Amino acid sequence: MIPVNRPLFNGNEKQYLNDCIDSGWVGSEGEFVSKFETKMAEYVGRKYATSCSNGSAALDLAIRALELPAKSEIILPTMTIISCAQSIVTNGHIPVVVDCDLETFNIKTEDIEKKITSRTRAIMIVHIYGLCSNIDEILILADKYNLKIIEDAAEVHGLNYKSKKCGSFGDISTFSFYPNKHITTGEGGMVLTDDPHLINKVQYYKNLCFSNDPNKRFIHDEIGWNYRFTNLQGALGLAQLEQLDQFISRKKHIGNLYNTHLSSNFLQLPLEKLSYCENIYWVYPVVLKKHNSDWLRTKLYERGIATRPFFYPIHKQPVFLKSGLFNNESLPNSEKLYEQGLYLPSGLGNTDEEILKTCEVISHILK
Ligand SMILES: *Cc1c(COP(=O)(O)O)cnc(C)c1O
Repeated sequence: MIPVNRPLFNGNEKQYLNDCIDSGWVGSEGEFVSKFETKMAEYVGRKYATSCSNGSAALDLAIRALELPAKSEIILPTMTIISCAQSIVTNGHIPVVVDCDLETFNIKTEDIEKKITSRTRAIMIVHIYGLCSNIDEILILADKYNLKIIEDAAEVHGLNYKSKKCGSFGDISTFSFYPNKHITTGEGGMVLTDDPHLINKVQYYKNLCFSNDPNKRFIHDEIGWNYRFTNLQGALGLAQLEQLDQFISRKKHIGNLYNTHLSSNFLQLPLEKLSYCENIYWVYPVVLKKHNSDWLRTKLYERGIATRPFFYPIHKQPVFLKSGLFNNESLPNSEKLYEQGLYLPSGLGNTDEEILKTCEVISHILK
């Protein structure tokens, strides 16, 4: 079976992990945690970074730290992972969704303003599949309506929006280091900001709201989470970050292989670049022009090739419909993409042979 993702550990991962074991520092204290945080902040161009247990936790922490009034409306794209909407709901706020663009898969910037009400307090920017949103246009809206910005950069480590790194925009930003991301720590996440007050809040909430006062050990004023990151994860993260620029080249190479070997007769292939960014192919998404994707996914599976469907739109998620959200809302682009889209094997550890084989099998099926 050709897996949809295979991670790549080609650098100092083993050495750093051995250092953890030899030194005994395997918990959340240890030098790899702080080294990785410092290097991520430097790489992304933010003042502060703090790690946490995964990318979903990072979103929980980011939203909580903003301390918005209860039941604030937060605007986000409907085509994204459940974590984005879940973090809004579990923090006591209301997700308001916007459709995506059919070609970039990112939020339709021109539809955001129609969804702004007197209760809107923030916009969550989520960059999708390796291309980024039109950040400047969103920042202008945020300025005009006095809204906070959360930037979820979980799919775009190292991607430049114009000349700045994604993950450096807005009030607070997040990353995930799940095994299919550009760099992985197994599970893992990070929150970044330039605001010292926000980073203190995140550190407080991720560590069970322990007090900074040593005389108040085990005395808590608030409920938080244990979302701490371990030195083992930090060891992996640091070794992976050292290779990120190579990883991006590798992802672009995979994207280009597909672009040159797949025909666009029946398939919409991803855009190589936009005016403000170059695709770093977090995944390699294709959209069938005339048909639903499930038959192609089944045929590929039968030929030993794993694929994934696109994100199921947030406004269709049964869990939210049950609670009365998104009544009868129709956001046709995201619905169409879910029906007709799929993504192909494109992990850093997937080989060129696997990519070429996938192209060959797809061409054969589509003939
Ligand atoms: C992967 C991902 C997350 C969640 O990260 P986990 O580490 O799996 O919790 C959040 N947002 C986006 C856009 C993602 O792709």
